[in-house]
Amino acid sequence: MGSDLPSRPAIERDMEVDVAIIGAGYTGLWTAYYLKRKAPHLRIALFEARHLGFGASGRNGGWLMGHMLGEFAFLSALPEKDRHAFHHLVSSIPDEAGDVFAREGIDCGFRKGGMLTCAARYPEQADRLAAELEFYRSRGLTDEDNRFLTPAEIARHVRIHNVEGAIFSPHCATIHPAKLVFGLAETLERMQVEIYENSPVSAWTSGELTAHDHRVRAKWVVPCVEGHAAELAPLGRYQLAVQSLQVATEPLGADLWNEIGMAAGEAVHEMSRVVTYFHRTRDDRLVFGARGSYRFGGKLRQDFTLSQQEIDYRRRLVTELFPQLAGVKITHGWGGNLGMTRRFRPFMLADHRSGIASAGGYGGEGVGASNLAGRTLADLILGEDSLLTRAPWAIRNKSLDEALKAWEPEPFRWLGYSAVVNAFTWEDRVLANPRSPATYRKFAIAVADGVSRAVAPELLIG
Ligand SMILES: Cc1cc2nc3c(=O)[nH]c(=O)nc-3n(C[C@H](O)[C@H](O)[C@H](O)COP(=O)(O)OP(=O)(O)OC[C@H]3O[C@@H](n4cnc5c(N)ncnc54)[C@H](O)[C@@H]3O)c2cc1C
Repeated sequence: MGSDLPSRPAIERDMEVDVAIIGAGYTGLWTAYYLKRKAPHLRIALFEARHLGFGASGRNGGWLMGHMLGEFAFLSALPEKDRHAFHHLVSSIPDEAGDVFAREGIDCGFRKGGMLTCAARYPEQADRLAAELEFYRSRGLTDEDNRFLTPAEIARHVRIHNVEGAIFSPHCATIHPAKLVFGLAETLERMQVEIYENSPVSAWTSGELTAHDHRVRAKWVVPCVEGHAAELAPLGRYQLAVQSLQVATEPLGADLWNEIGMAAGEAVHEMSRVVTYFHRTRDDRLVFGARGSYRFGGKLRQDFTLSQQEIDYRRRLVTELFPQLAGVKITHGWGGNLGMTRRFRPFMLADHRSGIASAGGYGGEGVGASNLAGRTLADLILGEDSLLTRAPWAIRNKSLDEALKAWEPEPFRWLGYSAVVNAFTWEDRVLANPRSPATYRKFAIAVADGVSRAVAPELLIG
């Protein structure tokens, strides 16, 4: 995206609206969109501290998933007869978003090429793949949702070094993240939604907020700041900022892409516990995301100029999967802050007693989930009774304090995060080394399992 993009004005006077949304990322934008479609008479305004898409929405990996963090934990708690409908609500997110893009003329490079979860860099990944498929089967999912692919079948999508198998899900699309932000914003402006940039909210409560020193009275106040919750007290207690980093190669030639594949916009990742994911962009770059970080005290990272070490680390992972890319240039490196709740699952909440609604905590899986959140918040705010408002992640008439568990104080958060990440990174290093003896490999897996079970057991469920 160029620097000649149109900017929006800052708020310059006090005002009164029906719905005041804090933060112009996907959650705020989708919430405004679905509210305005259902209730065109509402006066809705968004207040963004910096500029549109400054947060994770303008800089993510572009996977628009029909999956959500903690989805299976939510579904497992339901009677079996209800699970299918709510699973479908999640898995159909890319189709719903695609319909909106077509209807509103939003050109964000949407391609629904599905998602491949590959067993690649070490043999243990094949065992994990089998266990994951078994888990899906035990939850009633079929080949329609998750299908095993042999190496020959994988090669029709992507040619990865030493791949042993994959799970294919059709429920995933890829998009250009910033183009989606701007397309949604333009759509909203056509619908008479007001968007104010450079308008940081410094105080908010039931019925009003202060943005850029101006008072805004509103029937509904809707903070949508996710990974930036630390900038809007007291939300930082419930959503912890974690950093995620990515790199992009120079545009690759047709010969290289013929070797690699990914022509349909497939989203691909591998079965490592330390996240590694990538796709081919519309302008023929490989965008590759891997691993993140946490800063003591939940401090946001502001400068995402990646160090040479951060770039080299990702280059090494790229070339383990695609040795033929060893010589290509990495032209871009960036990252952003994303939000994680203490129960490692998103929330979508509206409290009619206070007129406060909010959603977030997608934990790196928010591109699709924020669309679901927008629809859910709209129905909750409008007091509708729908499948969306009956979903196990929809919270009616509770305050954030009543609904969400606060994070532990420091140094416990930092110690917990460091234990998990170090155990996972060490396990990955041991397993990726073909010379590691069998007993050492088993020990590394046991340590990673143990730390994960002790610190974040929620992450082990689906
Ligand atoms: C590098 C990276 C890669 C990712 N890749 C993927 C992916 O491929 N697929 C996926 O599903 N998810 C991915 N995610 C996560 C996904 O991008 C986020 O979950 C999603 O964009 C969150 O949207 P949001 O609108 O809730 O928050 P954000 O987009 O973070 O927006 C919050 C906004 O609130 C504003 N704000 C903060 N404080 C204030 C204040 N006081 N006043 C006014 N405004 C304020 C911020 O400036 C920001 O613009 C990734 C995240 C990162 C960082």
